[in-house]
Amino acid sequence: MYPRVEINLRKIEENTRRLVEAFQAKGISLMAVTKGFGADKRIALAMLKGNPAFLADARIRNLRHLRDFPVEKVLLRLPMVSEVEEVVRYADYSLNSEIETLRAIGAAAERVGTRHKVIIMVDLGDYREGIRTHRVEDFCREAVTIQGIDIRGFGVNLTCYGGVIPEHDNLKRLVDIARRMQETFGLRLDILSGGSSSSVHLLDTPAGIPQGINNLRLGEVILLGRETAYGKRFKNLHTDAFILKAQIIEVKDKPSVPRGKIGMDAFGNVPHHEDRGIIRRAILALGKQDVDPENIRPRDKDLAILGASSDHLIVDLSHARREYRVGDIMEFHLAYGGMLHAMTSPYVDKFFLEETDAPAEVVAENH
Ligand SMILES: *Cc1c(COP(=O)(O)O)cnc(C)c1O
Repeated sequence: MYPRVEINLRKIEENTRRLVEAFQAKGISLMAVTKGFGADKRIALAMLKGNPAFLADARIRNLRHLRDFPVEKVLLRLPMVSEVEEVVRYADYSLNSEIETLRAIGAAAERVGTRHKVIIMVDLGDYREGIRTHRVEDFCREAVTIQGIDIRGFGVNLTCYGGVIPEHDNLKRLVDIARRMQETFGLRLDILSGGSSSSVHLLDTPAGIPQGINNLRLGEVILLGRETAYGKRFKNLHTDAFILKAQIIEVKDKPSVPRGKIGMDAFGNVPHHEDRGIIRRAILALGKQDVDPENIRPRDKDLAILGASSDHLIVDLSHARREYRVGDIMEFHLAYGGMLHAMTSPYVDKFFLEETDAPAEVVAENH
């Protein structure tokens, strides 16, 4: 069935293991992040085989889905007050920045008869979640009085909102703050989490990752093989663990500029078309319902995406060196947003490969 995403489980396991080993050598543990593929169990299992210390996800329902996996689990998005009961049941750790939420978590933990481990998020200037540095001490002074929770770490998130790149100096600030809080409040800290796939580039810089940072939370670099500060392929990781395939339903030569008065397209935008005369184009049975066309890239470098509507993708074949015909399958790399969308779309089949080129079996939606 098309469109489909082919997922190579062996490559995901290998990417995870290579990253685990590269960072282990520096005393850094990994949280392998499952939200990019909706916490599909087969993919999460492939990650787990690569031996990360934790699995992590932004959504508690995804962690609940993985509740039988024998590994500590981390909730990455700040908990909603309305979900704290599930948080203490299905997550061993959560990232936090609000006292009210910690109180609710502590109360839920006491009701359920457990204790919950907390990583406090510090905002170092990206201005998404986290406590601003000058307020961390007051925050901790209150947080240490809350029953049912243990403050076990500090963390930072960079890049995702503000685009701030993790560097030795900003991560060093996290280490300094954590040390001060540890001394002031006698905390027992086991995690200093220095960010996501945008932090891995530091491994290859002269200054490196500052002493004291002992954890990273990695999704994209495991799944797509690229760090996200500069978008470069990282070490020898696989960049093709996820491939999108779609079928051609029309191939024709047509003018590159539509004929008639131009109004709005199907999505309310006024399209602009460059006049390149008559060009050969293909239409694929793939559209915005399946995937975000901005976040896919043809594997054949001679092809270019011209546009998409909800159910059609139009591809420029005029520079193609090979011939494409109706019924042929076209392949695409997925950017993170494309993967997220395709993996959670009910219109896109998921097809798991155990080895490099031997299709295994079609597995139905796992939720
Ligand atoms: C999603 C997420 C990550 C992982 O990000 P990648 O760019 O996929 O490595 C890390 N931390 C938090 C808080 C997240 O929400």
